[in-house]
Amino acid sequence: MSTAKETQPAHSELGPSGASRWMNCPGSVTLSKGKPNTSSDAAKEGTAAHAVAEECLIKKLDPKSFVGKVVEGWTITQAMVPHISEYVDMVNGESAFASHVGIEERFIILEEFGIFGTADACLIQGDMLHVIDLKFGIGISVDAYKNKQGMLYAWGAYDNLKASDKKKIKTVRITISQPRKNNHSTWALPIADLELFMHEVREAAAKASSGSMECNIGEWCRWCKAKVECPAQFEAVNEMAQKTFDPVTITDKDLVRVFMIKDAVKKYIEAVDSYLYQKATSGSKFEGLKLVMGRKGNQAWEDKSESVEFLESMVGDEVFKERELKTPTQIKKLSPELEKEIDALTFRPDAKMKLVSEAEKGKEITVNAGSEAQAIFGS
Ligand code: SF4
Repeated sequence: MSTAKETQPAHSELGPSGASRWMNCPGSVTLSKGKPNTSSDAAKEGTAAHAVAEECLIKKLDPKSFVGKVVEGWTITQAMVPHISEYVDMVNGESAFASHVGIEERFIILEEFGIFGTADACLIQGDMLHVIDLKFGIGISVDAYKNKQGMLYAWGAYDNLKASDKKKIKTVRITISQPRKNNHSTWALPIADLELFMHEVREAAAKASSGSMECNIGEWCRWCKAKVECPAQFEAVNEMAQKTFDPVTITDKDLVRVFMIKDAVKKYIEAVDSYLYQKATSGSKFEGLKLVMGRKGNQAWEDKSESVEFLESMVGDEVFKERELKTPTQIKKLSPELEKEIDALTFRPDAKMKLVSEAEKGKEITVNAGSEAQAIFGS
């Protein structure tokens, strides 16, 4: 196994993790200039999990040995261990078929635009380059299919191979390992397709770094630092409000447009809310708004163990809630040998139809008026 950390900058305006945003919305780069990067607890936990996984893979350690230790400013808990282990075991398993294993290799992706990246694990398996990305979040499930961040890592890893290795590679595989979501997503593509994608990236990077103010709303707005100042978000909210409150002129087409931007608008409203709250609590006054004191929180135990000791001795077992069974997935992780028995004890509710944008994955279902839904098995 090798590591290849070099001295490139740790953060670029056109980073792989934001590729979906800046490739779709060049204006976000212009509007985000100079805004500080804030790190949430989830991000800190993720950084610590990556660091532990790296140490375990390189030094053949058990993630358990890190419990209670502070890594990258975050204390590693017992609850993190099975998830880190799942990723470490998967990479170790894949490494058995690899002629090269790189862990946390940092490389140049497109030097002319200052795009650099670090692949969590990068393996050469025959004529395939396999790039594995650990996602420690529990929010949204991340799909490997056409994943721009994964494709950029794959390109960086491929382009930085030594010539003799590069010659051998025909395919790249991108794997997203998201153990806390029980999500393991993988997708392979020929090198020629990756090269085509890199043309798109170059065009998008040139536009994004040109000071463009073209703003396009989409699911990529979720992590945008410029939400509050974004003119597209502001217009969308205005448009949505006007359409929604004018039932005489509204059409289905208008409503579809509202549907397409609803998630982005929700996030925008949350961002505006938090921005105004922070300013107000720092002393700013806004016409039409005022700060008031909310309701007190629910009563909570000051010291839980002390309370348990006292209340158990006074009231007995009744002070406890009923024991709660873990989920089938959690118990399978705990006792993998019981998988069949667990399957026999469980069921999965039927899938329900949902309305999504055309760009999302999934076979389309047609519903004939007055009859049951029929799935079209095609394309
Ligand atoms: S909020 Fe969305 S549309 Fe606005 S700049 Fe950011 S990514 Fe672009």
